[in-house]
Amino acid sequence: MHTIELFLSPETAASEALILQATAKELRVPVDKISALRFKKRSIDARRAPIKIRLVIEVFTETLPEEEVPIYYPSVFQAERQVIVVGCGPAGMFAALRLIEQGIQPILLERGKAVRERRRDLAAINKDRVVDEDSNYCFGEGGAGTYSDGKLYTRSGKRGNIDRILKIFTDHGADEAIRYEAHPHIGTNKLPGIVSAMSATILAKGGQIHFEERVNDLIIKNDRIEAVLTQKGNEYRGEAVILATGHSARDIFELLEKKGIRIENKPYALGLRIEHPQQLIDQIQYHCADRGPYLPPSSYSLVEQVGGRGVFSFCMCPGGIIAPAATAPGEVVVNGWSPSKRNNPYANSGMVVSLSEKDFHPYTEYGNLAAMMYQKEIEQKAFRLAGSDLHAPAQRVVDFLNKKNSPSLPDTSYIPGVKPVPMDDVLPPDIAKALRGGLQAMGRKMKGYLSEEAVLVGVESRTSSPVRIPRDKETLRHPQITNLYPCGEGAGYAGGIVSAAIDGERCAEACLGL
Ligand SMILES: Cc1cc2nc3c(=O)[nH]c(=O)nc-3n(C[C@H](O)[C@H](O)[C@H](O)COP(=O)(O)OP(=O)(O)OC[C@H]3O[C@@H](n4cnc5c(N)ncnc54)[C@H](O)[C@@H]3O)c2cc1C
Repeated sequence: MHTIELFLSPETAASEALILQATAKELRVPVDKISALRFKKRSIDARRAPIKIRLVIEVFTETLPEEEVPIYYPSVFQAERQVIVVGCGPAGMFAALRLIEQGIQPILLERGKAVRERRRDLAAINKDRVVDEDSNYCFGEGGAGTYSDGKLYTRSGKRGNIDRILKIFTDHGADEAIRYEAHPHIGTNKLPGIVSAMSATILAKGGQIHFEERVNDLIIKNDRIEAVLTQKGNEYRGEAVILATGHSARDIFELLEKKGIRIENKPYALGLRIEHPQQLIDQIQYHCADRGPYLPPSSYSLVEQVGGRGVFSFCMCPGGIIAPAATAPGEVVVNGWSPSKRNNPYANSGMVVSLSEKDFHPYTEYGNLAAMMYQKEIEQKAFRLAGSDLHAPAQRVVDFLNKKNSPSLPDTSYIPGVKPVPMDDVLPPDIAKALRGGLQAMGRKMKGYLSEEAVLVGVESRTSSPVRIPRDKETLRHPQITNLYPCGEGAGYAGGIVSAAIDGERCAEACLGL
């Protein structure tokens, strides 16, 4: 087996036959001597023209690559040990699968509905502008991950095995390409099927999943959770509780605070979503009038420092849609997703400003919920200013920079609709100022970015959790409640699908050593 690196034109890299020919040429062997190719990496080098696709390939000439088998899960129907997992997002689901691998029965409790029924509630948000506080873009089977964009890149390599997480996705139907793409992406149209397949594995092996079971109380004795109670009056017991309820489970944060279970304010980032025609971003990034049939819709990643604050693009979605991601009536929250083909005409991205403890000082009366209350108030203000019907406030970028109202707005992908609102009325003054400075600097670097057609839509406020639930670095247990494992994004230990999945696995492994 040889490992080679090729730099090919987008057209050549789009054809397996042409890649094979290029490989044979590189190795100076006839094409028919090659028995198999296995892709290890694929990335785009668009720094200068002509754009090249970089491929790292394992080439087999006499042998065939070893066939990979799916991860084995034993049956846990008769397991002696049970662990409660609250929240069926990536952290909770990967925790459940890892518990099964270790012979422990997971009992998953999820406030939302299974994927199929959840879809109807998403349609109601978009069409009727009604948000169900248990079933929405963040809550339900698969958590915020199910109707997310499904970008799978992360910087959490040090904390766990990313390839193992990607393999579990491919074992459940994701395209093999996510294992070698530099920027793997599943897409919102494909994620629900993958999530359902993962649930099917959990159930087939003896795990339990209980939907529409919102955890609303904990029975604690001798610093241990004895039982978990739900809004239906049901009680669940297990030797440990993995709490993986995500960054939007405000009632869980309130419950912990009320019960005196230690939590802390956690800074996050706040801002808006920015949307451009995808073609404009392609022209800037690919330095050409049209990207043609072989290049994917382009993305960008921008970061600036303004007055001691980070201003950065976040969760960029080429060919995407701006999603209404509120989790309760009376608030507007935006996020973004895209289908696997990324074939919508718009490019959207979060454009956010880092917050610090100082920003939450006016909210100190809320104690450990100050950061959350700051977030909630801005979301509610955005709702009111845009007409109290889930329209989102919006302003042209050039008008925001010039402190002018936008008398008209370009079309946007946000289905509930947008209303012209000056973003200075929505955002705290310091945040608006930093954002303005950041955008101006970005516009100098990325010529054409601050175009008349670019629009800001508010608010991008759920970038990460406003609360950290502390845990011991080694045992991953809460310092006060000895069988509680705070897990995933909501507890402050992940920021995205893959890192949440890695953290879910780590918490499940920590339970084994109880
Ligand atoms: C529109 C959108 C696009 C996104 N795009 C990307 C992307 O491209 N790439 C990426 O890496 N990340 C993306 N994210 C973020 C990603 O989805 C999250 O980081 C990830 O899902 C966090 O995983 P988690 O398991 O920690 O929490 P969550 O996914 O939030 O799951 C928590 C679960 O707990 C449940 N829950 C909450 N409270 C209770 C309770 N009281 N009782 C029972 N259950 C409860 C919730 O219903 C939810 O299902 C996106 C998010 C959104 C909304």
